Amino acid sequence: MARDRLQVYQSNEVRVTFDPEICIHSRVCLRTLPGVFDVSRKRWVRPENASASEVLDAVSKCPSGALQAYLVTSVHPSVSPPKKD
Ligand code: SF4
Repeated sequence: MARDRLQVYQSNEVRVTFDPEICIHSRVCLRTLPGVFDVSRKRWVRPENASASEVLDAVSKCPSGALQAYLVTSVHPSVSPPKKD
């Protein structure tokens, strides 16, 4: 089942998922953004090494759809509610 092997990599701006079951090893990602995609590293996707737009652009070129990227929006309020005495 492909979903069981889905890898998730996240920066403050963008979340990248990689499904190794459907990657066709075209290496487009490696050539497009080598600072982010580098299979010589154990954690081979590092979205924090480029801007969100660069990551989204590189992921959009993945021919198989193995890579997907989403902008991260915080679900936590940036300001805490006032404390009650
Ligand atoms: S671009 Fe997509 S299909 Fe090609 S190597 Fe990267 S993840 Fe795999």
